[in-house]
Amino acid sequence: MNPVSSANAGRTFFIADLHLTDERPVATGRFFRFLNEQARGADALYILGDLFEAWTGDDHDEQVARDTAHHLKALTDAGTPVYFMHGNRDFMLAKRYAERCGMRLLNDPARIDLYGVPTLLMHGDTLCSDDTAYQDFRRRVRHPVTLAVLRLLPRAVRRRMARRARAGSESAKVDKPAAIMDVNADTVQRVLQIEHAHRLIHGHTHRPARHVHMVDGRACERWVVPDWYARWGYVVCDAAGCSLRMEDS
Ligand code: MN
Repeated sequence: MNPVSSANAGRTFFIADLHLTDERPVATGRFFRFLNEQARGADALYILGDLFEAWTGDDHDEQVARDTAHHLKALTDAGTPVYFMHGNRDFMLAKRYAERCGMRLLNDPARIDLYGVPTLLMHGDTLCSDDTAYQDFRRRVRHPVTLAVLRLLPRAVRRRMARRARAGSESAKVDKPAAIMDVNADTVQRVLQIEHAHRLIHGHTHRPARHVHMVDGRACERWVVPDWYARWGYVVCDAAGCSLRMEDS
């Protein structure tokens, strides 16, 4: 084992909301550097959604999609498992592309045993339950029948629909109070209770932080993973616990 690998062994990394696109090469450069440095030799890497700015199908033809597959495959081939959970931007990412990356697809939510702590992983959009218009839209578009129909459409049509959906969500955001677009604390407590988890790690809100929620008299941690816009970062956990790391360069 080389020195870099042994430094990262015993650590598990969580990232989300990179929103990779050929139009933002800075984030792409940071991501590939992160894969070569922090993630190399780590116990596992979890990507909790919105890795890509848009994903209209596994025939997505941006350069960043090809390069990402190449880099992730190198990481998984070297022995670090990579798990991918869908975000609201890249829920069309399917088995074919996941296989090219060597990564495994995860359901949302997913409960894992993280160094002995039952930990729940989510993208985070379903926690924003005050935004009922979005939750309705999500239920419709993520329905298996809708997904099957979408996959049959020509790429140009899927692209046009994705562009329109993004524009619609941007203009809807302008009218929504900030609180509506954050998680609902009752929903967080309920999901921790139902899933018997003591810790929750999610992205989506772009509000990196560590929160504590009391569930059945127990203090449960909620870690919010940062986005990769002005700054970037990740949540890293080991047997001693988790921490949030923010980087500038
Ligand atoms: Mn999201």
